[in-house]
Amino acid sequence: MKKIFVYAEKSGDSIHPVYYELLSRANLLSENMSEEVLLYGVLVGGNGGHLKELAASGADKVIQLTHSILDSENPECYSMALEELCRSEDPEIFLVGSTVEGTEIAPTLGVKLKTGVAAHCMDLRMDEGDVFVQVVPAFGGKVLGEILTPSHKPQIATVKPGLFQPDNAPSGAGETFSVHASSLDGYKAGIELVESKINESRLLPVEKAEIIVCGGFGVGEEGWPLLDKIASNFDRSAVGCTRPALDEGWTINENTMIGTSGKSVRPKVYLGFGISGAAHHVCGTSDADIVISVNHDENAEIFKTSDYKVVNDAGKVLSALIEQSSR
Ligand SMILES: Cc1cc2nc3c(=O)[nH]c(=O)nc-3n(C[C@H](O)[C@H](O)[C@H](O)COP(=O)(O)OP(=O)(O)OC[C@H]3O[C@@H](n4cnc5c(N)ncnc54)[C@H](O)[C@@H]3O)c2cc1C
Repeated sequence: MKKIFVYAEKSGDSIHPVYYELLSRANLLSENMSEEVLLYGVLVGGNGGHLKELAASGADKVIQLTHSILDSENPECYSMALEELCRSEDPEIFLVGSTVEGTEIAPTLGVKLKTGVAAHCMDLRMDEGDVFVQVVPAFGGKVLGEILTPSHKPQIATVKPGLFQPDNAPSGAGETFSVHASSLDGYKAGIELVESKINESRLLPVEKAEIIVCGGFGVGEEGWPLLDKIASNFDRSAVGCTRPALDEGWTINENTMIGTSGKSVRPKVYLGFGISGAAHHVCGTSDADIVISVNHDENAEIFKTSDYKVVNDAGKVLSALIEQSSR
């Protein structure tokens, strides 16, 4: 009997949607494995509400790791608890969302267990002979590489939210267990939660938005607040960014970065301002229905992957749109 673990990240009082996407893929993988497979939802900390939601998620078993130190999010302690669980349960595969939390936990756990981690996978499949194939973008997304970790367990893979559909999720109610993480008894964590703030913006997370207004380096610091104003004019909208905008500190929300190391998105309309069209970014927008790009360079690479091209200054177009919408 083999086990596939799926990390159940908490999102407020519910479970992050990426859990359902990964559970669905885990179910597909299990159908192509020669031995019987049990699917596990793994929750670290959390409350009764989380546990109840997970119990109905279709996983065969749900494990909640408990300890007072796990009440606040802490990648150091979370990965210690998960290490203890993996050593006792010996899962074959461990799937984790490529979220801010998941991208801290998965590699930390991989190092602790001395196993491989395939990060930001674009696809996961099971080949003949129970070979777990983890497909990752390489060379700036221009080629896809296949990563195999045949001799180390668990084989850990991270996948961005929104990449898989939750359509093949199993159904039914699983058994739930609470396990005390005894490795944390008496442990003094090196990382301390100082403050947590609730984001009160009415904008949606990029992976849920139907309209994304995305800014690149060409928008500049002074133009950045205009993106928010434009996006706020639409329902079900979000502001996205490229890597340089995040690096410059024009936005501090790394969850809004789109691309290889950020999110994959599927909006109805993606409006990009001052973005060059690097493969690392556009690989995250390839499922958008309509791409409209504004760039002052008429030969910009982004236009090759856009449905509509606007050759103009990003600031001027943003200001004109705001003026138009205030009429
Ligand atoms: C391993 C790795 C992972 C990465 N992951 C990501 C990722 O997930 N997401 C991501 O975005 N990047 C990622 N990057 C970085 C990526 O390769 C590019 O460097 C980045 O996407 C470029 O961002 P940009 O288009 O905003 O900036 P730039 O490349 O600097 O382009 C700015 C564009 O704006 C235009 N412009 C300038 N001024 C104006 C103006 N006034 N009006 C209109 N247009 C103007 C320019 O013509 C240019 O085309 C990654 C890189 C690596 C190595």
